Amino acid sequence: MWIVPEREIAGLVSRADAFDAVEQVFAAMAAGEAYNFPVVREAIGHEDALYGFKGGFDRPGSALGLKAGGYWPHNLEKRGLINHQSTVFLFDPDTGKPEAMVGGNLLTALRTAAASAVSINHLARKDARVLGMVGAGHQATFQLRAALEQRDFDRVIGWNRHPEMLPNIAKVAEEAGVPFEAVDLPGLRDADVIITITSSFAPSLMAEHVAPGTHLACMGTDTKGKQEVDPALVAHSRVFTDEIAQSVSIGEAQHAIASGDLAEADIAEIGAVINGTHPGRADQDQITLFDGTGVGLQDLAVAARVVDLAKAQGVAIEVDV
Ligand code: NAD
Repeated sequence: MWIVPEREIAGLVSRADAFDAVEQVFAAMAAGEAYNFPVVREAIGHEDALYGFKGGFDRPGSALGLKAGGYWPHNLEKRGLINHQSTVFLFDPDTGKPEAMVGGNLLTALRTAAASAVSINHLARKDARVLGMVGAGHQATFQLRAALEQRDFDRVIGWNRHPEMLPNIAKVAEEAGVPFEAVDLPGLRDADVIITITSSFAPSLMAEHVAPGTHLACMGTDTKGKQEVDPALVAHSRVFTDEIAQSVSIGEAQHAIASGDLAEADIAEIGAVINGTHPGRADQDQITLFDGTGVGLQDLAVAARVVDLAKAQGVAIEVDV
């Protein structure tokens, strides 16, 4: 069995590697060749932690396993550790023997950014030039960096409930050579692509803040009750997702589904667009919305790449189990 420690991940896996791995596994999901297992998520009654497992099997990618981890809210203040902690475990699908254990913290950010980047690549207008951001926390920086590679963006505009956090994303844009401007919510009408990546439980982005032809990547809502976008905007958009079962239960679409403004049958898998079995964007004026809920197979796909790279570069540690 191989171990790839968290400290090695940054030097091993590129944004392009993560993009390819996530694009391929979304395609495999839509083709019925990869599936996610039911998610387990428990409040363990210790340290106020939420702990759980997200697993699956990707037959074409030969990845079987799970991501174990969760949220320990006191880590930072008590121990100087990050609050989100996770580890990916891979098993040999032919034998069931453990194959690898991979640090999952940076990997989570890379696979989440890759998901919205894949959606932008396949659904945004080719002439998109202005990228809008709603959110400026940890994930937002990764989201922005990956999105900037998908179109010839010449401006980033951003809004955040806590404006003092906006320098986090301004720095990323400027390092990539693209000017950044803070805007109010109506100012987001200038954007051709908007990423939402907040931990909000009430909508900020309303229908009147979004121009026709925009692509929205809604990435923050990954739990029942969270919400970033006006349900009327969701219902008015062509909705795509990583996994329909999650989109309707824990994704951004949960609210429009609950109010009856959107039907499950209205939601398409992004993998179908990748596979060419769904046409994707219908025209230049359609608003497309990717409901990125985050599936275990994304973690497994990127972790499997990491293991190959770590072995090739001699940084994987071999242990007997
Ligand atoms: P963070 O704590 O670093 O940043 C939180 C962001 O949300 C900040 O921009 C903050 O200003 C904003 N925010 C907080 N409360 C808000 C409110 N009431 N209204 C509007 N904005 C508010 O968090 P993060 O690590 O960047 O994660 C952001 C979100 O992404 C979380 O909800 C997290 O669960 C989710 N996430 C999703 C996936 C996925 O696969 N879809 C993966 C990882 C994280």
